[in-house]
Amino acid sequence: MKITAVRTHVMEAPIERRFAFSQAWVDKRVGLVVEIETDSGLIGWGDGYGPPWALSTVIERYYAPRLVGRSPMAGEAIWEELYNGLRDHGQRGIAVQALSAVDIALWDLRGKHLGVPVHVLMGGPIRSEVAAYATGLYRRSDDRAENHRLLREEAEGYLAAGFRAMKTKVGFDFEDDLALVAMLRETIGPEIGLFVDANHGCDVVQAKRLAHAIEPYGIGWFEEPVEPEDLEGYREVRAATSIPIAGGECSFTRHDFRRILEARAIDIIQPDTASCGGLTEAKRIADMAWTHGVRYNPHVWGTGIGLAAAMQLLAVLPTGAPSFGAHQPLLEYDSTQHPFRQDLLVEPIRVQGGVAHVPTGPGLGIEVRREVLERWRIGP
Ligand SMILES: [Mg+2]
Repeated sequence: MKITAVRTHVMEAPIERRFAFSQAWVDKRVGLVVEIETDSGLIGWGDGYGPPWALSTVIERYYAPRLVGRSPMAGEAIWEELYNGLRDHGQRGIAVQALSAVDIALWDLRGKHLGVPVHVLMGGPIRSEVAAYATGLYRRSDDRAENHRLLREEAEGYLAAGFRAMKTKVGFDFEDDLALVAMLRETIGPEIGLFVDANHGCDVVQAKRLAHAIEPYGIGWFEEPVEPEDLEGYREVRAATSIPIAGGECSFTRHDFRRILEARAIDIIQPDTASCGGLTEAKRIADMAWTHGVRYNPHVWGTGIGLAAAMQLLAVLPTGAPSFGAHQPLLEYDSTQHPFRQDLLVEPIRVQGGVAHVPTGPGLGIEVRREVLERWRIGP
């Protein structure tokens, strides 16, 4: 089996109801899908989390020429070659996000070629179903009363759908954040997991103040309290609160995560499989986190292809401290509006009763609907 072509699909779709996190309003969804074709007729699919045009350029101009003619079976060798090829100018960010998309597509191809799911190639499954939390509860209106009305309704929707945990956005303004957390806790009751995410919208002083104020509301974790570069800031916030600190969606490869883990800066790391270096690197990071006794819940914010890759990884994430009550990793289930995330797959990964099942078909275990790809494709 040899690679004959590498194609990228930049996708974009407007959404009807815009929503905000601490940095910006979101009024469209974008995606970067990579398709790797082989002389065997098999096609591998990958998803890259990052600015799609930039990822597309890196893949088409720099990675594709190194891939054509190669066997997709040589996953580690190709990873090293692509990483080394842009190391002097890459190491993190766009170069690694583009590599992630390619790496996921190569795992898909290897699984399809051998007729087994990726998690079997990775030595699993350790688990075949994963509890999911709903990612949503973004700001929908600048009017607090209206925003609370909308988000209360949204939270009740997640409860009705069977979710046992959900995540909201903070980092806007102290009073707004506190009122929102209080309203949500009151709405969902004491038993349901509630996580908050500032998307690094706080400085250390703000993050400590907010953490202190929301501690009584039983917060499962405080995600990205401060800027990802500021590991000392993370340590300071972590030392100041009993709320577990999460983060890592803006960090890359085992090199970033080595620093995070050695600094004891984060309780729960959240590498994005479609951004941190692909499934190859995510598994290396997972083994490092295990060694350091740190939890790993993958960040997920892509198309259904990225979600499938995350599920394959979740199937093989080590169980931290095995016991009857062992902590198990959680699936981040993006529940915000997205015109093609689920539509892109023939059989989308669904959450039922708060649980998602690991796909068992060959490769990533998914089939892509080309008509949906074409419908939202804007280039190149
Ligand atoms: Mg986040």
